[in-house]
Amino acid sequence: MKATLEELRSALKVGNNLKREVRLVSPVGQVRWTEMNTQVLFDERGAILGFLATFADITERYIHQERLRHVAEYDSLTGLANRYLFQDRLKQAFFTSEREGAEVVVMFLDLDGFKIVNDSLGHAVGDKLLKKVGERLLNILRRVDTVARFGGDEFVILLNPQEKQLAVAEVASKIIQSLAQTYQIDGNEICVTSSIGISGGTAKNASPEKLMKQADAALYLAKSEGKNNFQLFNEALDKEAKKRVFMARQTRSALRHNRFFLEYQPLANIKRKEIVGFEALVRFNDELGRCVYPGDFIAILEESGAIVEAGNWVIDEACRQLSQWHAQQLFPLDGFMSINVSPKQFLDDSLLDSILGSCERYSIRPQCLTIEVTESVLIDKPAKIQRTMSQLKEQGIRFALDDFGTGYSSLTYLQQYPFDHLKIDKSFVANLGSDENSAKITKSIIALGKSMGLTVTAEGVADEPTLKILSVYGADYYQGYFLGRSTVADTAIAQFNRALAAAAN
Ligand code: C2E
Ligand code: MG
Ligand code: MG
Repeated sequence: MKATLEELRSALKVGNNLKREVRLVSPVGQVRWTEMNTQVLFDERGAILGFLATFADITERYIHQERLRHVAEYDSLTGLANRYLFQDRLKQAFFTSEREGAEVVVMFLDLDGFKIVNDSLGHAVGDKLLKKVGERLLNILRRVDTVARFGGDEFVILLNPQEKQLAVAEVASKIIQSLAQTYQIDGNEICVTSSIGISGGTAKNASPEKLMKQADAALYLAKSEGKNNFQLFNEALDKEAKKRVFMARQTRSALRHNRFFLEYQPLANIKRKEIVGFEALVRFNDELGRCVYPGDFIAILEESGAIVEAGNWVIDEACRQLSQWHAQQLFPLDGFMSINVSPKQFLDDSLLDSILGSCERYSIRPQCLTIEVTESVLIDKPAKIQRTMSQLKEQGIRFALDDFGTGYSSLTYLQQYPFDHLKIDKSFVANLGSDENSAKITKSIIALGKSMGLTVTAEGVADEPTLKILSVYGADYYQGYFLGRSTVADTAIAQFNRALAAAAN
């Protein structure tokens, strides 16, 4: 209404009449659509006196029009946009791109083996499947994106131009994973996978037609690559996806061929400079024997869900190693092992049994295990996480909040969950000596942790001056290259025993 009033004012100033559809809301909230006609009134000398406005109630007509528009723009089976609306939105996206230079991304999606479902279970089931596919797509994508069905099992998606290039591959993997989950339809359990072709471009280097063609070609490539995958047409995107696909393949192969292994990094007490525990850090060797670090594959494992299997292996292997050191009397019985656990593992019901089962198998006291989690663990399903943590805690397992300072650094997290330790992220610790801000933050985090009854570990301590500062600030433990890098089990424990012998002399 505000905009209409503005328009009215401008029209009046120059003596123009105005005709507009206006939405009126009565004091009790009833909405009526009206057609407003204004007529400017002049005096005998031609000066503007005012205007006469008449309102005709067009609510019925408006609802009719809306219905027609819906039929014209939406797919009747799934309620998604149809080809017409999609093309209009794509055009709009290119206008935005022209103004802001942002990239427009189009995805062509096709179900693998939809014809078999239709032929074997009938069209009614096929239709329900298409509806469910539509629902899952809407669930994954944001409101600002457009999901359309062009007919048959052909879906087309327009990602809002704000979408960053990197996230596109992630969106596509999410879609593929979600659509691959089993569908329950009329008593049938149906599994179908999907293939996606993606193309991206800006108003400078592409056009709506070009993007549609390229996405279609990329879909063809995805189908010929064995289906159940996505392909990117755009070269920059292509590189990124190829890297990810390559890394995903490497990770799968390493899992299958047991090429995962653990390294151990020592943690020491700041006051006594004694090693009191190790943190288990996972790695794998790729096909050429090169070591691949978790930064490159944990996210991939999380995406595919394989993190549960890999994570359970890490837990079991770390426990086995600790019990072997204990049995060989290479490590004190109160020394602990820290294990990183990712969010997906926490949401899986097997975590409790996995941790307690490994403790039992290797006769490890749960008090010897510390589970390290980052704040991202605590975001989803907090009640479930709290329950799991409490159950483990009752058995004696300890918890550390890892990388503190990089995430939300929320005090409520610290209060709501039963943490024992706080680990300050290495990004602060590394700059302690040179950056006043880092020093202030580190000092406050230590004070905060201590006030809440937690022990505080500083990560990434690289030299003696840093260690001295941390000691003054009151940190309890430290970890970092200055004390020792992560190494394989034999080297790690040998270093520990050498340090012990040197201290005794
Ligand atoms: P994190 O738990 O914070 O582990 C510490 C990381 O910092 C390790 O990197 C370690 O090698 C590195 N680091 C230690 N001291 C220094 C130092 O003085 N300077 C510098 N620059 N870096 C240092 P890594 O092994 O690459 O692990 C990276 C992250 O991957 C870990 O961070 C952890 O969040 C995750 N991660 C490692 N192993 C596992 C695992 O088994 N499961 C899960 N879910 N995540 C893991
Ligand atoms: Mg950690
Ligand atoms: Mg950390």
